[in-house]
Amino acid sequence: MRQKMAAGNWKLNGTSATLVELQALAEAYGTAGVDVLICPPASLLHRAAEVAKGSAVTLGGQDCHAAVSGAHTGDTSAEMLKDAGATAVILGHSERRADHFETDATVCAKAEAAMASGLITIVCLGESLEQREAGETLDIIGAQLAGSVPAGATGDTLVVAYEPIWAIGTGKVPTLEQIGEVHAFLRAQLILRFGGEIGGAVRLLYGGSVKPGNAAEIFAVGDVDGALVGGASLRAADFSPIIAALEAA
Ligand code: PEP
Repeated sequence: MRQKMAAGNWKLNGTSATLVELQALAEAYGTAGVDVLICPPASLLHRAAEVAKGSAVTLGGQDCHAAVSGAHTGDTSAEMLKDAGATAVILGHSERRADHFETDATVCAKAEAAMASGLITIVCLGESLEQREAGETLDIIGAQLAGSVPAGATGDTLVVAYEPIWAIGTGKVPTLEQIGEVHAFLRAQLILRFGGEIGGAVRLLYGGSVKPGNAAEIFAVGDVDGALVGGASLRAADFSPIIAALEAA
């Protein structure tokens, strides 16, 4: 039985004032039937950890460097995230792949570092609209999975998030059949590569315009173990019904 996960990605949003939203979540979820994760900007992580202390809400980073330390101005290592209070990190988000030219190999190296630090590593994959329309979705997803996930991954360390690029922040969502097809494909690929025990234990999140109004139907799709949520994670009033829908799924 895989533990479900509701993960929020605050992206480049949030200053001290935004922590009231985390405070509201922490107060609402002293305990939770699913894993609740918020990934604030790195600048807020330490204070966020103080706010979430004692609650069921855990914290993650949005990226890390592959090195533990060194001459990498502006970067943050997995160890630093952990030290600041993170238990997880998002890697290979399409915005980082686009804005920072991250390749599958880059993501894989970062994932190795994150796993070595004991962080739950959420590896993001997803096709563009052009790729979907060209019928290339499964080829693209398969290649990203093979190239971005390190050999030593386990069900405890790896979470995979399927995030069609065209659905992120757009209000457009794939059909439930399309989500189900990709998630079943990801599950099969993971089992092929890692065997049934590990491949069957890795959690698969869907991400892309998940909202309170569509969460329940998405969570009913096979092999959807939760969601990676951007916009709707910024306010506790929006994220809470998504958590509730996952708890009920
Ligand atoms: C995301 O940033 O990972 C994401 C899914 O964003 P949104 O929920 O806003 O589409």
